[in-house]
Amino acid sequence: MLDVTDLTVRYGDTVAVDGVTLHVADGEVVVVLGPSGCGKSSLLRAVAGLEPPASGSILLAGEDLAGRRPDQRGVGLAFQDHALFPHRTVADNVAFGPRMRGWSTADVRQRVAEVLTLVDLTGYDQRRVTELSGGEAQRVALARALAPRPRLLMLDEPLGSLDRGLRDRLLVELPRVFAESGATVLHVTHDQDEALTLADRVAVMRAGRIAQIGTPDELWRAPTDAGVARFLGLHQLLPGQADATGVTTALGHLRVTTDQHGDVLALLLPGALDLDPSGEITGQVAARRFAGDHHVLHLRVAGTELEVPVRGLDAPRPGDEVTLRLDHRLVRVLPEE
Ligand code: ADP
Repeated sequence: MLDVTDLTVRYGDTVAVDGVTLHVADGEVVVVLGPSGCGKSSLLRAVAGLEPPASGSILLAGEDLAGRRPDQRGVGLAFQDHALFPHRTVADNVAFGPRMRGWSTADVRQRVAEVLTLVDLTGYDQRRVTELSGGEAQRVALARALAPRPRLLMLDEPLGSLDRGLRDRLLVELPRVFAESGATVLHVTHDQDEALTLADRVAVMRAGRIAQIGTPDELWRAPTDAGVARFLGLHQLLPGQADATGVTTALGHLRVTTDQHGDVLALLLPGALDLDPSGEITGQVAARRFAGDHHVLHLRVAGTELEVPVRGLDAPRPGDEVTLRLDHRLVRVLPEE
């Protein structure tokens, strides 16, 4: 559906998007995940026609968008600050796109009712947008973007301004809205939970480039480098030396297959370390953090600090000695930084 090839966006000397190639299939939800300033918005703005690319091409359903005005591109956009028309009703805001495209009054009315139902705002038609909560306003923005049946729906940090409870609720609702609308979605965020929850595929973006793209599962199981791992929330990285038999770290020799040699980083995936009296690794509890239904132990093991989540009420306390088992299958060998 969307084919972005070798796209570069510049502002003077700043290269905001640096040769990005990205394909989004019909009906697919691709989430671009990256820190603030990595070029996510610039990528969306270029696809929307709001920012002229310095080079590269953008095709939507096979059609080259170069030279097409934003309103002729068949894309719907919703931003974090949702930018609704403040003095109009919900229905007027949602009807804006279809009216601009010259739909008949009857068609517009029917479509407004349809999309308001989709975002769970049936009956809100005549409300003023100034009378809405943050979450409701965000859903109106989503309905407005969906109303003209865009070929591509683009969302820029749509949940960023909401408080945590509302954010979590919309995060559960969005996949249903995406599925029922049949939309092809390009969504950008800096929040890994949001990306991993919504995406069919996640593109991790860093300094204007896509560092890795894959399903949430693929990324989580096999991040390509330490930067991607950290950005996904995987922080347990140990320096080591790799050879054909595995990797040697402060935790001993770990049997993992790798084609890397020399200085590397061993990433311990969640679940790699567990308390086990018959394990081979010993450590000491440095601190303990309560996390609702479990504790996170901060351990000192062979001169390094590691974290292990522990269920149950009688978790070891600071100062206690513990024995651990390491599941070598959950270790990944990444290039040294
Ligand atoms: P993100 O959406 O990931 O936060 P942006 O695409 O907004 O990133 O920005 C990428 C880079 O381009 C940043 O260095 C930012 O400062 C710069 N930038 C963005 N918009 C402009 C602009 N209108 N003029 C100049 N520089 C800009």
